[in-house]
Amino acid sequence: MTAPAASHLLDQAVTSLSGVGETQASKLARLGILQVSDLLFHLPLRYQDRTRIYPLASLRAGQEVMVEGEIEATEVVVRARRMLLCHLNDGSGANLTLRFFHFNQGMRNSLSEGLWLRCFGEVRQAGFKLEMVHPEYRLIQTGQHPELENTLTPTYPTTEGLHQASLRRMIQHALSLAQSTNIPELLPDFVIQQQNFLPLQACLNLLHKPPTEKASRQLLDGQHPVQKRLIFEELLAHQLGVQQARSDLRKVQAPLMQADNHLFKQLLKLLPFKPTAAQQRVIQEIEADLRQGHPMNRLVQGDVGSGKTLVAVATALHAIANGYQVALMAPTELLAEQHYRNLSQWLEPLGLDVVYISGTQTPKQRRRQVENLLLGIGHIAVGTHALFQRTVEFLQLGLVIIDEQHRFGVHQRLALREKGRQGEFYPHQLVMTATPIPRTLAMTAYGDMDYSVIDELPPGRTPITTVAISNNRRDEIIERIAQACQEGRQIYWVCTLIDESEVLQCQAAEDTAVLLRERLPKVNIGLVHGRLHSSEKERIMQAFKANELQLLVATTVIEVGVDVPNASLMVIENAERLGLSQLHQLRGRVGRGNTASSCVLLYQAPLGKTAKKRLDALRHSTDGFELSNIDLELRGPGEVLGTRQTGEVKMRIADLLRDQHLLPEVQKAAQYLVERHPDRIPALTRRWLQQPNGDTATRFFQS
Ligand code: ADP
Ligand code: MG
Repeated sequence: MTAPAASHLLDQAVTSLSGVGETQASKLARLGILQVSDLLFHLPLRYQDRTRIYPLASLRAGQEVMVEGEIEATEVVVRARRMLLCHLNDGSGANLTLRFFHFNQGMRNSLSEGLWLRCFGEVRQAGFKLEMVHPEYRLIQTGQHPELENTLTPTYPTTEGLHQASLRRMIQHALSLAQSTNIPELLPDFVIQQQNFLPLQACLNLLHKPPTEKASRQLLDGQHPVQKRLIFEELLAHQLGVQQARSDLRKVQAPLMQADNHLFKQLLKLLPFKPTAAQQRVIQEIEADLRQGHPMNRLVQGDVGSGKTLVAVATALHAIANGYQVALMAPTELLAEQHYRNLSQWLEPLGLDVVYISGTQTPKQRRRQVENLLLGIGHIAVGTHALFQRTVEFLQLGLVIIDEQHRFGVHQRLALREKGRQGEFYPHQLVMTATPIPRTLAMTAYGDMDYSVIDELPPGRTPITTVAISNNRRDEIIERIAQACQEGRQIYWVCTLIDESEVLQCQAAEDTAVLLRERLPKVNIGLVHGRLHSSEKERIMQAFKANELQLLVATTVIEVGVDVPNASLMVIENAERLGLSQLHQLRGRVGRGNTASSCVLLYQAPLGKTAKKRLDALRHSTDGFELSNIDLELRGPGEVLGTRQTGEVKMRIADLLRDQHLLPEVQKAAQYLVERHPDRIPALTRRWLQQPNGDTATRFFQS
């Protein structure tokens, strides 16, 4: 078997296409599209169906559809904002409201009563009615029926200033060029036969230009066999990529840290508790890595409350005891601040200097901190990703710790390592996560890393009782809160809204705080949300921690990491709309002290079937691993393509969770290529792992 020679035409820069100039090319480069063949592998995120008109009576929230109707009325109303509402009727027995926040008088006048409109947009639930917000629309002459599309319309990931329509045009152009040449086939033959895959060319045609037949349904659901063909190939590229990254790591150097961790021994004497056996084991695994001359790249998984911070601190102290500096990065300001406080408390008695770097510090505040790091006076720097801005430099950075890694993508992780590079040396890297990771998945998503698990909770934890209660019993909950406060307990009240803007989420929290203050005049109530200034957030968190506030109304900003052991009751609003793992994370904020804790899941009745199962699962289990398995079952593979692309590893068409059944075969194929066709590996990784502006994700170690 021989792979066809790379074809000339497709290897050329995108500017070889007519109508693509330097400006377009630089925008395409931001998407990782450099040459013509890259256009072919820029795959649709999803498809729009503009092939038919849906009767208004058949609409459901969440659908993205084409509709037609007669304008019954158009009005300007003023609520929180001025807006234009246009009411459509198509005679099918239901109406639809179009809602525009941006409009002018001309637009208002053009949408006059009695005219017919054709619209395309997403149907949303607004109270008891359905609506579309800012749909695409056009007026149509009575009696006329403008033609509909005859294929599904692909929607591509794009970038600022690059329109879907031009992207579509360029991709179609590349596709027509590909008809006359050969796109190199990089999968092993045996895989193609075994899996019954269609030729690559046919697959790409179908994905970019899906026909109207029933295949289109499968495409929309991400279930079409040609998608499987490309999913397989992308997973294979990732597998090879992480293997490559792993072997690259062995070729570079990292600080040798062989001296004894005497600092941690000192700290243990000051702490009120002893590490659990699991913490001790993981710390040993880490210290063994640090004694090698190659960069550690280790992932530590531990359920919420398992004590990952202590493991991080032990690791940091090992590096400091060996004369190196440490950077600890957290995904949110709130968590970074909290780490900063904890670490200061623990480490300052040891004579160590903890530095805080935040995106919201004034340049003056920050300068001092930055200088300390550069001079080597600061031993450990805590912060958000602001830590890795160009202005922050270390004298001797030896270790990077990333907390709650699921918030950072794989590429960010790799980029961080590159930024920490000091001459010949790469810092060691420790990543911590509460997200349980099934084994097969770990091999692909984190195949470049070693893996430790803290599989034990510290002793003395009291189990959390979880109940699900319908919203219309809110009053009872509020009474219970009054009582709990009298007993000296502290409470989180979490306001959540999914699919809504952060602004709305904060608004909801503010409203709730007002309401609760009215109803509970004797309780000290605080409010934190993402739009507060970070010093304000921190002040409130400190007041809560010091028990000056008994009730904290919060948005999901408190989801990760926040640790206030005295808080023993949590109320989560709209629990039916959150995912299992998010609920588990949130709930992990209570049950940290020695009072019995409880969690109230408030839901809006009636509960859907899956939502009910989710809430039941939470009531019956507090085990992160078990919950994540249930989550996987409940979500199933039927989800629309693209909805989970924001997960841990950013992929174009594959979804590690949905497609994990393919992984054993993918791993075999990877092995086969390494042994038999190493020549194909660069082409494969180039095809799939190309990053914006031409870096390949796993190639960070320029040889
Ligand atoms: P997570 O793994 O969720 O990050 P933390 O590191 O925040 O958990 O630890 C949760 C709580 O448990 C903290 O208050 C911490 O001080 C405490 N803790 C950590 N290790 C132990 C231990 N071995 N024994 C008792 N308490 C511990
Ligand atoms: Mg933590």
